[in-house]
Amino acid sequence: MRELPPTAGLPLPLPELFGARGGFSRAAQDYVGAPYAGLACSGTASLVLILTALRRLSGCRTVIVPAYTCPLVALAVAHCGLRLRLCDLAADSLDFDMKALAAMCDEDTLAIMPTHLAGRVARVAPVLRLARERGVFVIEDAAQSFGARRGGQSVGLEGDAGFFSFAAGKGLSLYEGGLWVTRDPALAAAIERAQDDIIKRDAWREFRRCLELAAYALFYRPAFLPWVYGMPLRRALKKGNLPSAVGDIFSPEILLHHVGGWRQGAGRRALSRLQAFHQQTADQAMRRLAVLDRLPGVLVFRDMEDEEGTWPCLMLCLPDQDRRNRTLGVLWGAGLGVTRMFIHALPDYGYLRSCVPQDACPNARDLAARSLTITNSLWLDDTGFARVTDALEQVA
Ligand SMILES: *Cc1c(COP(=O)(O)O)cnc(C)c1O
Repeated sequence: MRELPPTAGLPLPLPELFGARGGFSRAAQDYVGAPYAGLACSGTASLVLILTALRRLSGCRTVIVPAYTCPLVALAVAHCGLRLRLCDLAADSLDFDMKALAAMCDEDTLAIMPTHLAGRVARVAPVLRLARERGVFVIEDAAQSFGARRGGQSVGLEGDAGFFSFAAGKGLSLYEGGLWVTRDPALAAAIERAQDDIIKRDAWREFRRCLELAAYALFYRPAFLPWVYGMPLRRALKKGNLPSAVGDIFSPEILLHHVGGWRQGAGRRALSRLQAFHQQTADQAMRRLAVLDRLPGVLVFRDMEDEEGTWPCLMLCLPDQDRRNRTLGVLWGAGLGVTRMFIHALPDYGYLRSCVPQDACPNARDLAARSLTITNSLWLDDTGFARVTDALEQVA
């Protein structure tokens, strides 16, 4: 029995867990070329630090995020005592509907968060233009896109601040980790102050994270993934509990603690292999995009001329929800790494009702209804990929 992961995580050879400690924070900062950066215990924690800093610099209290994004973003905004607004996406796009964004941005807007989903490079420039006119900050959510670039520059550095995630399933993993980045020295100082105020040492949590990272290194391989990923997935699908099938249900409690030297050492060694890994996954993605392009009615999200995204998965849209569901009826749970990104637009998660407004978001709902993802793990060989394209072709 074999099971493929839903994204192309960088596998961790066990010996790499041992060796000199520390150094990941600096190495990750150099990797993206950020003038200022800091390591945090998750992408969410990085966002909490950025929001805490901005909240102290401004009287504004509203944060605008895409209506289709990670539920943790909504929880982070609530954690910081800020008000959330949801902006719809443009049709058949991962970018904001700019007209809706311009209409929504008002005197109370503190920040707008363009989001680089699935390794793709979001269009930050128009958001930045609008934000500059209105005196609003731009935070790039690059949690899924560490290593992605536009015009040779890393994502996360075009706006005022940005953050990355090193959670399991997001490429390079510390099991949990995050990096905030900025080019602005004053903002960097404010984020560092927030860090000193709210990040605590927590030896017990860190010890658990070390065990989790070791378990991740051990089990992240096709022979063991049925136990840690495939079986829980199929159980949730059988119960019809889709949000828990894809891991969309999070606790509102956000952990804020330091990342220890042992995990940092492992991360630093993994980072030295990341560029070559991204090259391999990009090559595989290019070959497979060409195959998917020949299928009728399949829209695959891809890069523009000057963009070099990363390829954790291929995210695609089918013509309608019925065809998407029939495709997943064949492929979801088949062990081939085909799944969905987030199940719902943010207003449609029952457990987020208290912190998410019911803003209109037809395009975000449409994306949730018509999209699916195919893993770009190097373990998905051409035979496996042909099974995926056969199913897509049959349903089309
Ligand atoms: C995963 C994710 C986050 C949060 O990152 P964590 O490291 O899991 O806390 C934020 N935004 C997006 C788009 C994500 O996918």
